[in-house]
Amino acid sequence: MTDEGKFVWFSDIHFDPLYGRAGAVNDASCSDGSVNDAPWGKLGCDSPVDLVRSSLDYAQSIVSEPDFFLITGDLCRHKNDDVNVVAMLSGVADEMRQSYNNTVFVPSMGNNDVVPDYHLDVLGGDNQLGEIREALSDIFPRTRNDTFARGGYLSVNVPGGAAVVLSLNTVIYSVWHSPNSTGVGDPFGQFAWLEMELATMRREGRWIYVSGHIPPTVGSYRRTQLWHGKYLDRYLALMLEYSDVVAAQLFGHVHSDEFRAASLGGKPLPPLLMTGALTPVYLNNPNFRVVRYNRLDGTILDYDTYFFDVAKANDAAVKPQWKISPSFREAFGVPDMSAGSLSSVADTIASSEKAGATFLSRRKADIFEPPCFRPCRARWNCTLRASSLEEYRGCLLTAGLVGEAAAQPPPAGALHYVLHPGISIFVLVGFLLLACGIRARRRWTYKTPEPVEIDGDENCDVLPTIREIT
Ligand SMILES: [Zn+2]
Repeated sequence: MTDEGKFVWFSDIHFDPLYGRAGAVNDASCSDGSVNDAPWGKLGCDSPVDLVRSSLDYAQSIVSEPDFFLITGDLCRHKNDDVNVVAMLSGVADEMRQSYNNTVFVPSMGNNDVVPDYHLDVLGGDNQLGEIREALSDIFPRTRNDTFARGGYLSVNVPGGAAVVLSLNTVIYSVWHSPNSTGVGDPFGQFAWLEMELATMRREGRWIYVSGHIPPTVGSYRRTQLWHGKYLDRYLALMLEYSDVVAAQLFGHVHSDEFRAASLGGKPLPPLLMTGALTPVYLNNPNFRVVRYNRLDGTILDYDTYFFDVAKANDAAVKPQWKISPSFREAFGVPDMSAGSLSSVADTIASSEKAGATFLSRRKADIFEPPCFRPCRARWNCTLRASSLEEYRGCLLTAGLVGEAAAQPPPAGALHYVLHPGISIFVLVGFLLLACGIRARRRWTYKTPEPVEIDGDENCDVLPTIREIT
């Protein structure tokens, strides 16, 4: 066995069993007859079964025996309360097991894998967790104890012995989680478990990947904080305390290829990687990645993204032509994906127009993005370094972006420019009511000035149109 290992990483599959039929996500163009000409999926729609199969077949053809197969949540389509979630989960799990019959899978639960979206009863216990575990039985890994049915989290040994993946339930920390239980200090006892696992691994001289669906950071779509502040603070403190054993944090949810090189108290946190989505619903090409890592210490060395031009595949009515994009190392000229390397890439994106363009074109797997000039790249640098909204705002001030922002009307992605807290809350509430209508009003239980995320993969079931994205 060499020191270099590989794992396959899928996220945000969002399988839609009604694709091409009445009731499909997202709108009429995903359910009418024209979809017959687009069997591999379509920009603006969730994933048909042929896309799920094609991606797994292709992954299997390039890496038939990965060390493990990571899934960072959201197997099920959006608007999932109209469809049988258990059937969607078990259907995707069955496809995965058929493609990878001996591989260890590491699943995480996404907000669209529960019903309604983001709903888990922390106080009374939630039967959905046991049902999800059962639905995923084809791929559910052997664990030391059944923490998943109790709290939606699990610990998986990576074959080879040195490493463990701790897969977290992050739905319960989301600013969109319901029912409101922010008074609970440690929902489902997950922090106590995480701390115990981290301490055990350190004692045993092993290293760890932490994985999950919703990343502990500021989202790039609306530039808002994705977790409640109290849970974010506790998690970040643990990541700092155990930065010697946590080799990387691996998350999905944002449907965008990104990273964070954040720090706490001036000390770097373990590198945080976010992968793109298989579903093209947010106007990205379908993609997944294969990651190369050092088996001895867990350092992520590099990754390759595989994607195909979904619009072209449909025009040609031929099988998807899967392609590989330049690896992270090739694209940015760094030796690995350690915290130091990611930090230097964040700086390069800020200072170099070429690096900025490279970063943006990779975000949605080779979809054109408009030019990003110096203030735009400085804003990205702040995003790539922030864990919390407070840090992000502080970075904008340091970068001198407040004056630039004040000169512009704040569009959807620029609510952070409204710095006075009172005005900020007023504008934020107004915007959400407009954007999300009645449904948002029903959910809105505003208690503290916590930031609210309506980022990439959530937003009260309002899927963005092309105009909103651009
Ligand atoms: Zn998603």
